[in-house]
Order: sequence, then C-alpha cells, then structure tokens
Amino acid sequence: MTHSDYIIVGGGIMGAMMALELAESNSGSVLLLEKSFPGAGSTGKSGAILRQHYSHEVTIGMARESLQWYSEFEERYGIDISFHRPGMAFICPEQDLGNLQRNVELQRSLGVETTILDSTQLKELEPGGNFAGNEYAAWEAEAGNVQPVTTVHAVLEAARRAGAEVRIGARVTGFQRTGDVIQGVQLSDGSSLSAGQVIVAAGPWASQLLEEAGVSLPLCAMRPEQAFFDPPGGARESRLIYGDLSNGLYWKPELAGWTRVGCLELKADALVENPDHYDEGVSEEFIHDCRGRLAKRLPHYEHAVSWGGMGALYTMTPDSHPLIGPVPGLQGIWVVSGFSGHGFKLSPSVARGVAAEIGNGEGSRFEPSFFSPDRFLHDAAIEVTYGYGILG
Ligand SMILES: Cc1cc2nc3c(=O)[nH]c(=O)nc-3n(C[C@H](O)[C@H](O)[C@H](O)COP(=O)(O)OP(=O)(O)OC[C@H]3O[C@@H](n4cnc5c(N)ncnc54)[C@H](O)[C@@H]3O)c2cc1C
Repeated sequence: MTHSDYIIVGGGIMGAMMALELAESNSGSVLLLEKSFPGAGSTGKSGAILRQHYSHEVTIGMARESLQWYSEFEERYGIDISFHRPGMAFICPEQDLGNLQRNVELQRSLGVETTILDSTQLKELEPGGNFAGNEYAAWEAEAGNVQPVTTVHAVLEAARRAGAEVRIGARVTGFQRTGDVIQGVQLSDGSSLSAGQVIVAAGPWASQLLEEAGVSLPLCAMRPEQAFFDPPGGARESRLIYGDLSNGLYWKPELAGWTRVGCLELKADALVENPDHYDEGVSEEFIHDCRGRLAKRLPHYEHAVSWGGMGALYTMTPDSHPLIGPVPGLQGIWVVSGFSGHGFKLSPSVARGVAAEIGNGEGSRFEPSFFSPDRFLHDAAIEVTYGYGILG
C-alpha cells in the first residue's frame, strides 16, 4: 500500500494551504486528495474578503499575518492571485459603538491600521451614501480581497512545486484503522492509502466523513445566498468593501465588475442535508431583499440591474468558529473544518499553525486550545461580539 506521512482530504483553501506548509517545512511526504475539483466546496464561491476586524486577539493576529502572506504571494511564487486592497468599512448602529471601540482598540494594539469614522467622515468616504447621525464605522484601509478560484489553484501549484502530490477526482469514503488509531484512508475505487496522519479538511462534507470513523462532531452544512448587481451610473471604480450591521448586509466589488451582496444572517431553512446535492441558484426574494437593503445605504442601487446570484455552502459550528485539532477519541487524525463565512482570510495562519503542531512548521498566531474540537464539552465556546456569527 502506498504510504504518505500526511494525507489531506479536501482541495479547498484549507487543504491547499496545509499541503503547501507541510511540504515547504519538509515535514514529510504530503498527498492531497480532492473528490471533485479545487474550490468545489465553500472556497470557489467565497467572497475572499481579507479583513482584520475581529474581536479576539487570536483571530486578529491570525487575520493580520494571513493578510501579509496573501499580499506577498505573487512576489514569492510568481503567480497572480488578483490581490487588491479596496479597504473595508464596518458600519454599526450606536448601540454597538462600545463593542466597536473595544475591538478597534484591541486591533490597533496588535498593529492593525484602523480607525473609527463618524457619519460625516463616512459621507466623505462615500459621498453618495446614506449614513445616520448615530452610526459609526471601523475603517480598515489595508483590507483586501483575492480571486478565490485562482488562489486555490495557485496555492496547489506552489504546494506541488514544494513536493506535495495532489490527486483530483479521488474521493475518500472511509478510514483504515487499528483500534483507535487511524492509519490511512479508503477511496471510492476500492483502493486504500496509508498515512502517518490524516487531516480532514473536507469543509461541508467533514461531518459525514467523520461519521465513517464513528465520530460525531458539531459541524453542519448551511446554504447562504449571494446576489450580484451591476453597479449603476458607472460607479465601478471606487467601490469599497462594507460590513453593514445596521442593515444586516455585506457587499464587495467583484473582479468581474459586479457588486456581490450577502446577508449577515442565514435563513431558517438554510440547513443542507447532503452537500453533494444542494440548490446552487438564488431566489428572486433574496435578490429583491438585497437590492432594497443595499439601496437604503447606497440609493443609486435602487435601480441596479441584477446579474442573478448563487447558493453556496458554509460549514457551521455552534459558535461559528472552526474545529481544528486531533479528532476526539482517535489518534492519527485531525479535523480542520467549520470555518463558517470567514475562513478564507485565516487559512495561511491556520496552515502554518497546523504544520507546527504536526510537522516541522515554524508556527503562527494560531492557538490550538482556542479552536479545540472538544471545546463545547468544556463550556469553552468562543463568544462573538456583534451577534452575527459569520463575522467571527
Ligand atoms: C458565499 C461565501 C462567501 C464567503 N466569503 C468569505 C470572505 O469574504 N472571507 C473569508 O475569509 N471567508 C469567506 N467565506 C468562507 C470561506 O470561503 C470558507 O471558510 C473556506 O473556503 C473553507 O475552506 P475549506 O477548505 O475548509 O472548505 P471547502 O472549500 O468546502 O473545501 C472542502 C473540499 O473538500 C473536498 N472533499 C469533501 N469531501 C471529500 C472526500 N470525501 N474526499 C475528497 N475530497 C473531499 C470538497 O470537494 C471540497 O473541495 C465565504 C464562504 C462562502 C460560501
């Protein structure tokens, strides 16, 4: 049986980053298995917004070092991932001002260049916008984004160059085990592969795959929708990224020229039983709702042409933060999943942290205890500040 020191299940941004980090740190032989194609899960449809506005020291530090990493990617690997820095405004109503101030102070103490703007300053930033006198925003000029599909392919290419093997079209269906020790994986073609360590980075599929190992973790697949609009009146050039807590919305410029809009809350019927078969379309109701909410802030979008949208997949946990660590009750297997709507930006730091824990990596701001897969058994759920879990 072919043996690898590390088998990574999943070719989303997490799997790709870990393949790169483990290979670059000379931790051992690395084999990544992807059942469909790179970015087939959450990654390909990600907004890939890279902001540092979090409320915990750990996640702020991880977002910060990851942003730096993305900004240097093209220079280091010679592959363009369309890194841009439009900047991001994080608007909240007066009742959240205390949280906003606390978070901005914490971010500044960790080196993030961010400041609080009042409604007059917001109006200077966005002259066509509607901002009430009691609204404030955290402004982060460094915030950026990348093209997610290009990026996952670029990271896989860098991982290959560093010596990792990447197999596309290889579906893991179960595990090789002796007692509580996982020793490899079984594939859908009936073959088996042995490994020193298996890492399940299977995104929305992680829960059902881990059931094959007899483990039930609090991970579930949920379906958010996204809508795309043609910016009206030639307003394509100077668009910023927004998180708008007053209207429960976020939006960003897409490289295709559209404005992508998503809601901060998920619909009641968003649970997805089988991620292999979910509705990839968008409802008319969602498009109307987004246009209406966006026009409250930017009135020129009232007559914005819709370019449709899509249904996508998040992997949710009870506190909207990932499970990263050894799978409870087993040896030889890690889970790295449950990144809700905010994992793309953290992936370089996650990968470096994991490579330090299980390989020769140098480490990062990642803290294993913070993301422990069994934290819910110990009342150690991560608390979020604003009441919208997908913001982290
Ligand atoms: C609409 C949307 C917008 C988002 N916006 C942002 C954002 O702006 N900023 C941000 O930071 N994050 C954002 N996110 C979140 C971010 O995209 C995800 O957290 C991240 O992509 C998760 O990556 P992953 O590798 O864990 O999972 P996935 O991308 O889902 O990858 C899992 C992979 O595993 C493969 N796989 C599954 N089962 C098997 C198996 N049995 N065998 C082999 N392969 C298997 C799948 O085919 C898939 O390719 C957004 C997500 C969505 C859906």
